[in-house]
Amino acid sequence: MKKIGITTTVPIEILIAAGYQPVDLNNVFIADPSPGRLINIAEKDGFPLNCCSWIKGIYGVCADYGIDTVLGVTTGDCSNTIMLMEVLKLKGVRVIAFAYPDQPDPPKVQAALTMLAETFGTNLEAAAKVRDELKSSRSLALELDRLTWREGVVSGGENHLWLVSTSDFNQDYSKYCRQLQKLVEDRRRRQAYPKDWLRLAYIGVPSVYGHDLYPYLESHRARVVFNEVQRQFAMPRSGDSLAEQYSNYTYPYSIYERLKDIATELERRQIDGVIHYVQAFCHRGIGDIIFRDALKLPVLTLEGNDDFFLSHHVKTRIEAFLDMLRHTRRNLKYSQKTTA
Ligand code: SF4
Repeated sequence: MKKIGITTTVPIEILIAAGYQPVDLNNVFIADPSPGRLINIAEKDGFPLNCCSWIKGIYGVCADYGIDTVLGVTTGDCSNTIMLMEVLKLKGVRVIAFAYPDQPDPPKVQAALTMLAETFGTNLEAAAKVRDELKSSRSLALELDRLTWREGVVSGGENHLWLVSTSDFNQDYSKYCRQLQKLVEDRRRRQAYPKDWLRLAYIGVPSVYGHDLYPYLESHRARVVFNEVQRQFAMPRSGDSLAEQYSNYTYPYSIYERLKDIATELERRQIDGVIHYVQAFCHRGIGDIIFRDALKLPVLTLEGNDDFFLSHHVKTRIEAFLDMLRHTRRNLKYSQKTTA
């Protein structure tokens, strides 16, 4: 299958139906043994220092891994992608644009999907068959999520990794399915994490220090039991059609669509506190104002740039946040006892 780079989660069912293998360029960037090297490639070619690291990383991956075709999302993801696509064109990369509609309205999504399928010389019937083939992988990812928050036998880092990978199923959905099936069976036999650990939500784009953050939290008796955007990649509300599936997918639409999903899951998963990750120089960071206003729980906002590990400063802020959450929990227990 011919590889096609993708800049975020897109309707991969259409790409696979057209004979392409989607490659999530973000995942390649962050999994690279030296992601800073990929950023350097972009900066040497003129990307400014105050441009988001994910954009520069994606560019570096295209240059370094020889990606010659990219599907970029122009509406519903990142305004920087538009200029990234122009530069990639300049460098000889074949660039195709996809725009999510401005609202999660199934007829509008259906029209956008039909146009995308036509661009790739396929149709939505063929894409629907691929959707069926992907169902078992998506269900397994969501089962892993359930094992994380309800059974407490999967770590926040494992949850992050397997859910974020559903954007391209690690470039081989059959292999992904086999590997995840094994992991799920194994984790079902695992001893659960202690019940008294703090329960955290992680909202916002995946962080540049994903590999560092989750174990660090767990070393302080706190677990992420909700990875918001990563879970959305797995399409938790798949609906009856591809159009419904991509209408229910909250990330490309208004932040208020995301908020409804977040509020439901915070309640269901009995979350103590929220970590909102924002990427330096990202317009989505402004949404922090709305999250802080709407969410009824303490929020810690972390901003990362091109540091792929937790600095001492960030670690200190995390520890202070966890202390505060523990204190709040103790006070709550105490006041419940005294009013009983
Ligand atoms: S983090 Fe923000 S600026 Fe960077 S690629 Fe994602 S949406 Fe764009």
